[in-house]
Amino acid sequence: MASERISLVDKKLSQGYVAPILTENSVILPDKHGTLYSFDIDNPRVINWKLYLSSRKKIGNMSLSSYKENVFFIVDNILHTIDAKTGEIQWEKELRAPVRGKTVVINNKLVVLTIDNYLHAFSIKDGSSIWNYQNGINEVRGLYSISPAISNDKIIAPFSNGELIAFNEDGKKLWSQKLATNLLDTQLTDVTTTPRVHDNILIATSNSYIYSIDVNSGNILWSRPLQVKSISNIESYYSPLIPAEKQKEGGRIFMVTKDNKVIGIDIQSGKTVWTSDFIENVQLFVPIMYAHTLWVTSNKGSIFAFPGSESTGRVIKIPGNVFHAPVFTHGGGPGGYKCAIAAAKLGLKVACIDKNSIFGGTCLRVGCIPSKALLHSSYQYASAKNNLSKLGIKVKDVSLDLREMIGYKDARVQELGKGIEYLFNLYKITKINGLGKITSFDQGNLEVSVEGKVLKTKNIVIATGSDVISLPGINIDEKSIISSTGALSLTEVPKKLVVIGAGAIGLEMSSVWRRLGSEVTVVEFFDRIAAAIDGELSKSLLSSLQKQGIKFLLSTKVEGIKQSSNSLSVKVCSVKDNQTNTIEADKVLVAAGRKPCSEGLEKIEKDSRGFIKVNNSYETNVKGIFAIGDVIGGAMLAHKAEEEGVAVAEILARQLPHVDYEIIPSVIYTHPAVSSIGKTEEELKSAGRKYKVGKCQFAANGRAKVTDDAEGFVKVLTCSKADTILGVHIIGAYADTLINEAAVAMAYGAAAEDIYRICHSHPDINEAFRDACIDAFFKK
Ligand SMILES: Cc1cc2nc3c(=O)[nH]c(=O)nc-3n(C[C@H](O)[C@H](O)[C@H](O)COP(=O)(O)OP(=O)(O)OC[C@H]3O[C@@H](n4cnc5c(N)ncnc54)[C@H](O)[C@@H]3O)c2cc1C
Repeated sequence: MASERISLVDKKLSQGYVAPILTENSVILPDKHGTLYSFDIDNPRVINWKLYLSSRKKIGNMSLSSYKENVFFIVDNILHTIDAKTGEIQWEKELRAPVRGKTVVINNKLVVLTIDNYLHAFSIKDGSSIWNYQNGINEVRGLYSISPAISNDKIIAPFSNGELIAFNEDGKKLWSQKLATNLLDTQLTDVTTTPRVHDNILIATSNSYIYSIDVNSGNILWSRPLQVKSISNIESYYSPLIPAEKQKEGGRIFMVTKDNKVIGIDIQSGKTVWTSDFIENVQLFVPIMYAHTLWVTSNKGSIFAFPGSESTGRVIKIPGNVFHAPVFTHGGGPGGYKCAIAAAKLGLKVACIDKNSIFGGTCLRVGCIPSKALLHSSYQYASAKNNLSKLGIKVKDVSLDLREMIGYKDARVQELGKGIEYLFNLYKITKINGLGKITSFDQGNLEVSVEGKVLKTKNIVIATGSDVISLPGINIDEKSIISSTGALSLTEVPKKLVVIGAGAIGLEMSSVWRRLGSEVTVVEFFDRIAAAIDGELSKSLLSSLQKQGIKFLLSTKVEGIKQSSNSLSVKVCSVKDNQTNTIEADKVLVAAGRKPCSEGLEKIEKDSRGFIKVNNSYETNVKGIFAIGDVIGGAMLAHKAEEEGVAVAEILARQLPHVDYEIIPSVIYTHPAVSSIGKTEEELKSAGRKYKVGKCQFAANGRAKVTDDAEGFVKVLTCSKADTILGVHIIGAYADTLINEAAVAMAYGAAAEDIYRICHSHPDINEAFRDACIDAFFKK
């Protein structure tokens, strides 16, 4: 039986101890910090409401129950009744002792069992007491989560001495049955052993036994030894989960056993009629039946769904032999090498092929790392020249040694490349240097040829990345017309540099060469720079970079470049009024985008731009061949490639990874830097979402002020209803590192108030993020 993981509750929510309440439109579930959420059932990113208890008690382990329009839960000894639609508290009632189980309802009476063995009945309207019963045991067995059961006109209460007593709704005792094994026979009852009832059959479990009891007489119908962790409700209708020949009248109950299996038992005979396979690396907790699907919560914060199908009998596939199947990652960039390392850590045999002798890909050789090295060096140079004196540091005769600066960058690249080799040796990954070509696409018998050798494998991960792209009629010769690769290794500072493209790479390279003395003009087709970022930040960045002396021609396209012996004439044309102009330059940097490296893969399906098409598991149209990173498109970022690499390794090890594309941070490492995560204001507006904006200017932040870096601000966008953080956009000197606090917060589904209540060290830049959250939280 196939299981599918749904991102209904993401990682942030219940550790799995609590079964959610499912209504027609919502899923109601507490998180592990003590907040109750209602999610839209069709779109778990939409939160209908969120309830904090004023005392902020930990309600992660509470049991939820519902009746008509209300949801009930008990935290310690307070019974709360809330409106399921709005999350508003209707009434609260203090009980004589704590309750660990659920409330149940019989004819508008709420019934609960407190841990001192009192059974209480309250009015559902206002919580007033109607009757109570004490069975004579005064022992307080507080660890247990146990609730009464309702059968038509009866309440059946399991007391802590193992006695089941049936009452009518007015509290009259009808029968009692003392089970041979104590219902609460160890101190470690995991989730709930609350009896379940269907028609006249009651199923009760202890830690080591399961019983079927006749509700009318209290007689035991059958019993069998079974190590049960938790049970579902009884499912009485036809189940797509159970093979037709095993479907009997009366119904079945699903349970998670102590050895982490999910099984279904026929309630008439006590026979096991369905078994799931063992699920590795996950602890299963609460099984529930909803919409013909068996849902099981787990300690990984995910819910497993067993939807059922006619083609069953088969269970979730968790084959062990995958650990003997070799995997080749093809391309040693951040996607490929991280995939190789993750796969090796998970016990797979891995080889990694790269045509370049330094592994690490574009990112290490000609991308993230060398660009950040030059951004750092050039910033230090410009600071020494222009900024240090106001701090009282007088530096005379600051001069530039470009060869040394480039050498410094190259040395760091070499060192980091050695670091990857070290990791490959540590995890016994075979490093193969050469151009790889897939020569057999046959399922199960894939072949890659590298430098005349043929390698056989069951799985290939294509992580060949991307390469620079030029514009029609413009030939990048890496001498006078250069790409980012050329711009990272110039031997002289160009007097006049024209940069085509105001994306992250164009802006970073413009900053480097402007700081080192070039006259820089950036030509951009769109009417704003860094078009993908939040509009307000884009404007702010433009004004900062203009102040640094970078010129911008927006809404302008380059029509051609004329080359003469020692200069270039760049013909530009306004896209607004078609006016043309010519700019002289001694170097032109083309930073107009990148294209996927997917040539020579004829059997692999690609889109019109050459990006490899993959399914949700990163598998291409050829079984066993996966693709990740820049070559599949999406955000062309090293950390996105890494996430996908690790996910594929986990998929090959039969785990169920999940890459959350909504919360991948992006950064432009200019000064001020710009960083973003989640939704922009423009996206929220066009989706019609109601949101609040919280802001903190770095000018109001002590640390930013004393380090002379007070330009910029933090902007936090939160959901107006639920206060959840939907997007964070930062411009400022420390935007690059600060964004990762926002990433952690968003990964855990934090609300602005959560950040408000987390103590931050002072004086620090991170306080600006907190202050922006506080601003959002208190906004009306
Ligand atoms: C100037 C610049 C700055 C950047 N700065 C950042 C940044 O600050 N942050 C960020 O997140 N991203 C940045 N990026 C983007 C980042 O570098 C890429 O998103 C990332 O490297 C993609 O990783 P990948 O593993 O998909 O591919 P790549 O890193 O491109 O690696 C692919 C590897 O596959 C090899 N290969 C290709 N074909 C074959 C073949 N047939 N056989 C063998 N080997 C092959 C290549 O040699 C290469 O080593 C920058 C890019 C550039 C150009």
